[in-house]
Amino acid sequence: MIDTPIKTYFHLSFKIAFLASFGAFFVFSAVLNIHLPLKESMQYGFITSVGLLFVIYFVTRAYLKSRFERVHQLLDAIANKNFDEHPELLRLDRDELDRLIKQILATSAKVELEIQRLNRLENYRKEFIGDISHELKTPIFAVQGFLETLLDGALEDPRVNRQFLTKALNNLNRLTILTQDLMAISKLETGELRSELQKFPLRSVVNEVVESLQPTSVEDNISLKILPFDKEIKVIADRNQFKQVMVNLIENAIKYNKSGGSILVGIKPYTSNPSKVLVYVKDSGLGISAEDIPRVTERFFRIDKSRSREKGGTGLGLSIVKHIVEAHGEKLFIESVVNEGTTFSFTLQVSNPEILVSLSSGK
Ligand code: ADP
Repeated sequence: MIDTPIKTYFHLSFKIAFLASFGAFFVFSAVLNIHLPLKESMQYGFITSVGLLFVIYFVTRAYLKSRFERVHQLLDAIANKNFDEHPELLRLDRDELDRLIKQILATSAKVELEIQRLNRLENYRKEFIGDISHELKTPIFAVQGFLETLLDGALEDPRVNRQFLTKALNNLNRLTILTQDLMAISKLETGELRSELQKFPLRSVVNEVVESLQPTSVEDNISLKILPFDKEIKVIADRNQFKQVMVNLIENAIKYNKSGGSILVGIKPYTSNPSKVLVYVKDSGLGISAEDIPRVTERFFRIDKSRSREKGGTGLGLSIVKHIVEAHGEKLFIESVVNEGTTFSFTLQVSNPEILVSLSSGK
């Protein structure tokens, strides 16, 4: 508790009482002087105003003390971050002091929220730096190891020299992808990368992405198909970011699939909002357990670390997907059954929703 500044009450109350009784002395003396001689009137006037001085002093002092004590209680509560401790103070609205008290409360609550936000950001920053250093360590140490082994003599050994150089290069490629993903995620998380919404035909962009990933899926013996849909459907989204989402989802569907497996890309009506569609990527791969589903979109979360790394994964693909989808005000859904497969789907705003009637009627 802050010490009560007795002097403040004393000075203020005494000044008020003194001024009031000083004025009262002249008024009393003048009024009494109508019936009494001047000397006597001044004597009575003096006695009455001295009495008045004491009364005004004690009453004002008590009042000021109670008001100051409230402010002290409040400042104490604020210092201990108990913003809700004095709800009665928020209900009072008698004078300027009450308004000031309310203002102090409101401002302090805002400051506290801002401090909490900054603390969260600081924790996020620390965590992010920790994650990045951890992720960078593996490929950097691998490159270092291969180069040292080569310099220590393996360079002259034709059985391993090219193999070690290729491995060093693969790790450097991993570092490049990791850096690109890190730049993308940090821009998305700080809000630096804005979505530039435009209208574009969904089918042509889906075709483009699927065609570009066809060679990888063939290499892994996985069939990748689009279930045909009306090529007139136009969506409103950032074209490049949409392509990035599709690339990440289809690449994952290839990486976490089984040899001989399949991937289907298509669209479905979105029943909660008829002006949107659900774009989906369905695979027949390894699947994700129910407890891991909410975690796969976290930064650097991987179910099987070695499989992800071996396939060139950075652990950032799905968090980039989630950020992009949410930055568009859209939703991402994940359904999966372990060993049977996974379906990732997300909503997209359609610019010509009348065309979707054929989709919902199944034509
Ligand atoms: P990564 O670079 O490791 O692929 P992602 O963020 O893209 O990172 O995915 C996170 C993790 O989610 C992956 O490591 C993988 O374990 C799991 N995952 C993602 N997509 C699929 C999928 N289609 N099927 C099964 N598991 C998946």
